Parts: sequence; structure tokens; C-alpha cells
Amino acid sequence: MELSSVSGIKVAVVGCGHGELDTIYATLEVECEAKGFPLSDLDFLIICGDFQAIRNELDLNCMSVPHKYRKLGDFHKYYSGAAQAPVLTIVVGGNHEASNYLFELYHGGWLAPNIYYLGAAGVVRYGPWRIAGISGIYNPRNYHKPHSERLPYDRDDIRSVYHVREYDVERLLLLRSPVEIALSHDWPAWVELFGEHEKLFAAKPHFLASALGDSLGSKPSTELLGHLRPSYWFSGHMHVKFSATVEIGEGLGINDVLRLLDDVPDKLKPILPRPSVKGKTPTASLSATKTEFLALDKVGSPTFQWLEVRDLECSPRADSAAPSPKGTGTGKFSLTYDEEWLAVTRACASGLRIADPETLVVAPSTTAMTKVSAASVDKERKWVRESIVEKGLLTIPLNFTAHAPVHSPDLAVVPNMQPLEYPNQQTAQFCELLQIPDKFTL
Ligand SMILES: [Zn+2]
Repeated sequence: MELSSVSGIKVAVVGCGHGELDTIYATLEVECEAKGFPLSDLDFLIICGDFQAIRNELDLNCMSVPHKYRKLGDFHKYYSGAAQAPVLTIVVGGNHEASNYLFELYHGGWLAPNIYYLGAAGVVRYGPWRIAGISGIYNPRNYHKPHSERLPYDRDDIRSVYHVREYDVERLLLLRSPVEIALSHDWPAWVELFGEHEKLFAAKPHFLASALGDSLGSKPSTELLGHLRPSYWFSGHMHVKFSATVEIGEGLGINDVLRLLDDVPDKLKPILPRPSVKGKTPTASLSATKTEFLALDKVGSPTFQWLEVRDLECSPRADSAAPSPKGTGTGKFSLTYDEEWLAVTRACASGLRIADPETLVVAPSTTAMTKVSAASVDKERKWVRESIVEKGLLTIPLNFTAHAPVHSPDLAVVPNMQPLEYPNQQTAQFCELLQIPDKFTL
């Protein structure tokens, strides 16, 4: 596929996956055929969290779900090779996950062949399209904390491990080139006010209660939406289908976005807070004026509003500085790393704070995130271009290996027993590629 001939892509979106991959792929095939094309024509599928990449019974004990609702799900078949994902699948994490597995792939990676996790935060490219994601859900109590959870998880770790961290949001806020598609699990806070919120609140009164209590949605995601201004933003979590159009004028920040809310219900007006944005005004290049927001339901919901197949017509605003990956001859693009994101990852690497696997102590960071400037990202970008892009290493390697025990009915697992960490070769290879310290591999 020549870059110049690309006018749109066919993408499917699912709200929450809840471990039901067999249902998702079977339904998707029917849905594509109903639209008049085979599943093989689809560019990729997006799953907006609660993916539940459960490899075995021990992973189940790392998921924050009451015992009676714990279910192995379908993923282990895709992990062991007994089943294959028929289409490139791109996912972010939610709040019901095999958090130990997602943590192994903090920088992103293949959960199984053809199933790519974007990491705690991440940006990848599909041809000229940039896809950004933030995993987890927002909880103000843990937002400013380091990533201190390591196996074995205690009761608190199991819940805090999936909370969004400021460090990861700050990294996305350092991006200065446009993003076409953004993904999160929980909705950006107040996004419902840009759609038919009266209808939503009437159908789901507890959403209104949350909105009035200022606890509906993620404020960091709102900040990201205001900064990145992607053409599309997809979410799950609330188990309802909802769409909204966020219109943003040129050069406006999120404060301005909120001022545009003329139709805020009267009840909400006096209590709507004005988030402060730390002087990180988007550059003119982040130029989308309109973000289409779409949230979908969870797989299997009787409303059947959990899957949507769409032609995305966002014209790629490819920044000339970044190379355009070549097509693969199959009519599809290979997933590639994003040059700017790799530069941001390098610029922020020494500020990443996670617990030491032996001592479980979190070392102080050597660089405060506030010190990471656009200039330092530019400097790293030069390094990335010379060391990765020009050496042809931008394509994400197909380096998945099943390194944890696969599901076996004979495996005796006592309730709450915690697994060991399984050092993930993909993370080690990514850190080596970027020449950054690997704080994840034992
Ligand atoms: Zn869910």
C-alpha cells in the first residue's frame, strides 16, 4: 500500500474485552461480512481495556476481581498458540487485568502473536497513523506515586497497580506532533458534557451522581485530550455506548475547552472545577479541531453495543520529520515504533521510579520530570533517528515468546497464591534498543 493511496483505514473498536476473545473475533467476522468485506480487510481491532490477558491460574490471582467472578477466559489459548488472533489487535489496560503480565510489558509489547499492548502509556504507528494509549484508571490517591507494586502483590497492590500514574501522563504531554487515535479505559472527565448527557444521566442516574461528586472520568485523560487533540478517542469502562464530539479551536487548551461548555447542566455549573494545566500549551502542529469520542459497552452485553466497525477518515497529518514505514505487500502496514515517543521515553528514562525487585524499595529518581524539556526530547530524537530509524529498526519486532507457564488443568493453585515474576524478553530487548536501564527484568 503506497502512502499516497491511503485515504482511510478500516478499524473495529470494542469497549471492555473481559477475556472473551473467541466471542470478539467470531462476532467481528460476522460484522465485517455484514458490511460487505472480509475480516482480512480490517486494518486492526482496538480493545479499550479490561482485556484480561490471563495466561494461567496464577495470573488470575493478580486480577482485581472478587473470587466468584474470576474466570480464566479465552486468552490463554492465544498465549499458548492453540488459537490465533485473526486480525492485528491493539489494547490498553483497564482495572480488571492480569496486572502482573501488563507490568512485565510496561513499555508495551506483544501479549500474544498479533495482540499488541500499548504499555502503561505508549504511542505506535500504523503507517502514517499514530495511536496513543494510556492504561489503567484514574485514582487521585495514587496518581503522584511511583510504580511501587511488585510481586507478590498484597491486597492493596492488586488494586493500586492499575491506577494511572502522573509520570506516564507527563510523558504523553511531552508529545508535540499530532496523534490520530487515542485510547483510554476510563473516559476523559467531563467528556459526557459534549454529547447527549441528559439522556445518559437519565438512563444511568449513578453517572449523574458521580458527575455531581466530580468523580466521573479521568482528569488526566481530559488534559491529554486537550493537549493531543486526536481525531478519535475511544474508551470502555462505563459499560455503555456513548458518543460525543469535542470541538476545540486553534491554539486552545483544556481551560478553554471547559469554557466552551455552554450546555453544562445548571446543576453542574457551580461545581465544575477548572483544572490547571501546567503551562504545556499544545503547539500549532497539534491541529485537530474536533475529537470524536466513542465509548462502547462490554463484550456480551445484551445491548450489543460493544463492537463498532468503522472507516476512519482522519487524513494522516504525517510530520515530515518522521519516516513513513513501507507497506508490507499485504495491503497492511507493520506496526512500528514512534520516533518521537522513543525520544520521550529516553528523555524520561531516569525519572522512572519502580520498586527494586529484590528489596521492593523505590529508589529516588535522578531526574525530576519537570526538568524534561522540549529541548531534551529534541536531543534524544536525534539519537533515536541515528541509532534506530536510520538503521531500519523502527518496525516493532515480532519477538513474542510464551515465557510463563501456560494454562494447565493439572496445575494446583491455592486461592490468592501469587506467581513469580517472569522476566520478559521483549522488555529487555526494548530497553536495549533504546539504551535505557531495564528496571523490570530480575
Ligand atoms: Zn469493563
